Amino acid sequence: MRKKELELLRRKLMEKKEDIKKIVRENNREEKDFLSTDVGDIADVASDSVERELLFELNDNEKRILGNVEDALQKIESGAYGVCEKCGKEIEIERLKAMPFAKFCIKCKSQMEPHRK
Ligand SMILES: [Zn+2]
Repeated sequence: MRKKELELLRRKLMEKKEDIKKIVRENNREEKDFLSTDVGDIADVASDSVERELLFELNDNEKRILGNVEDALQKIESGAYGVCEKCGKEIEIERLKAMPFAKFCIKCKSQMEPHRK
């Protein structure tokens, strides 16, 4: 994979991660506004607590995606990104562009999830 493509995909993954974290932050804010109107410095609440609460706030699908995004980012760091976990071949670049946290190539994925018709 070209470096430029890898960088593009890395950026997409970071954006996805931020999107998911934003969901949590918004959920938290609504809750805090509702529960405590007279507590100051809500904005100063450590982002650490957001990280810790993250897994409790997310639904299963979001947790799964976040996990996959984290995995993909780690693989980029270690140079193992873009390789199918099943057959070991490179995952199609078009597939990665559409779904940068994909773990399997189209062929393996379609074998795992037979089309229901
Ligand atoms: Zn494969």
